[in-house]
Amino acid sequence: MKVEYTVLKRNFRLYQSEYEEAALRVLRSGWYILGPELEAFESEFAAYMGVRHCIGVNSGTDALILALRALDIGEGDEVIVPASTYIASVMGITENGAMPVFADTDEFLLMDTDKLEGLITEKTKAILPVHLYGQACKMDAVMKLAEKYNLYVIEDCAQSHGAEYNGQKTGAFGTIGCFSFYPTKPLGALGDAGALLTNDDKLAEKLKMLRNYGSREKYHNEMNGVNSRMDEVQAACLRVGIRHLDEGSRERQRIAGRYLSEIRNGAVKLPMIRIGASHVFHLFPVLCEERDRLQRFLADKGVKTQVHYPIPPYAAECYAYLGHEWNEYPAAAKLAMTELSLPIYAGMPEDEIDYVIECMNAFQ
Ligand SMILES: *Cc1c(COP(=O)(O)O)cnc(C)c1O
Repeated sequence: MKVEYTVLKRNFRLYQSEYEEAALRVLRSGWYILGPELEAFESEFAAYMGVRHCIGVNSGTDALILALRALDIGEGDEVIVPASTYIASVMGITENGAMPVFADTDEFLLMDTDKLEGLITEKTKAILPVHLYGQACKMDAVMKLAEKYNLYVIEDCAQSHGAEYNGQKTGAFGTIGCFSFYPTKPLGALGDAGALLTNDDKLAEKLKMLRNYGSREKYHNEMNGVNSRMDEVQAACLRVGIRHLDEGSRERQRIAGRYLSEIRNGAVKLPMIRIGASHVFHLFPVLCEERDRLQRFLADKGVKTQVHYPIPPYAAECYAYLGHEWNEYPAAAKLAMTELSLPIYAGMPEDEIDYVIECMNAFQ
């Protein structure tokens, strides 16, 4: 049997007629940028998240870059970010000339909030938690520290659409929540797209200007902005996606439930979920000391897997100038050496789930 890591087409087919109707509606409308679909998407996504404002942009990376820019975080400022994350979380910081300060990883594979206070200096402007793999970070701890030291909180929710902490949606805690709608994400567009959430009216206004050449009114450029707008086709397709977002999360949670109860192998550590946090299982990360051998074993049996992420961002080539060592953050370094993500997506056939479990249990 062959098991692909993910098959976007299967996910698309679940709602094919709705997506086709949405895309065609835009194609025929003659309005392709900053139009009614984006406006509708922004209000629907904000309502779903329980936040006042949503600002659609071109990608999750742009959302992170613009979030820091809107808060005037730049040269001379420090932002605390997890040592284990996708590198775009860090690029949002360095693109603005600010300095990333890394916090090591906890047993839930997220930013260790016990380490945060020791990292705060007079240069610290913000904490940037990442709800990695789809699990909400320990947000009460993050918010308490942010209040105590008067710091901004910028949440990276690129993998956690719909995940909650103590009943509140990720992206609704911080000053700004940043989302990616890259096609494989829990809420995926049919191209690149991203968004920011905020309850702050002034920030929302500023972000809307920043994404559109720094202008509110055509040819009146009040600030130095960029061109980062979510196009109408993506907005229309994402409106379909919002309607089915919880359905998709429930399906991945069901598959995760099967993995958690049916994979029994002493060589493999399964992911844990923190009390109070929900996990939408964008990914299903397992840990194995012999990760590379496990990956080859599964590949030989026809099961494709991925590693998230083989090189922690502080050890990336592009950040060599920061001068960090691989083992400076031991938990993040270990995660990079031992993590393996199993196939998990809405639309995954049941016999493939059975087969992944069978292969995982056969590894020795
Ligand atoms: C995908 C991702 C991003 C970047 O989003 P893009 O839309 O691909 O630019 C940022 N942070 C995390 C954690 C991600 O997974």
